Amino acid sequence: MKTYRKELVFNLPTRRALINITPQIQQCLKESGIKEGLLLCNAMHITASVFINDDESGLHHDFEVFLEKLAPEKPYNQYRHNVYGNNADAHLKRTIMGREVVVAVTDGRLDFGTWERIFYGEFDGKRPKRVLVKIIGE
Ligand code: ZN
Repeated sequence: MKTYRKELVFNLPTRRALINITPQIQQCLKESGIKEGLLLCNAMHITASVFINDDESGLHHDFEVFLEKLAPEKPYNQYRHNVYGNNADAHLKRTIMGREVVVAVTDGRLDFGTWERIFYGEFDGKRPKRVLVKIIGE
């Protein structure tokens, strides 16, 4: 069995953003040489997410509105965690959007449904953050 591990780093200029990282993940799969197996991709920070959804800008706006309704950034003093800073909403948003994805690898490709793409969700940006890619198989 082959294994592959890589850390990707994202340093986004805004507090919140969603970016399609599918091309970087496909590049990792190519580098790994693995044709059949499983790919895990997870955020290594507790204020960021990795998730699968549609690459459609209207939907990305809808996610922002939805998350701000459930866990609004402000006022900061509504959260107990914010005695340590101002990112309680980012922890909550990350929990809603998830930590990781697992994708089947078949014939050297990500075995996606038609509209599935992998996204990095940043909820407390303006600093470097790591994403782990682990691939196992043969
Ligand atoms: Zn925090």
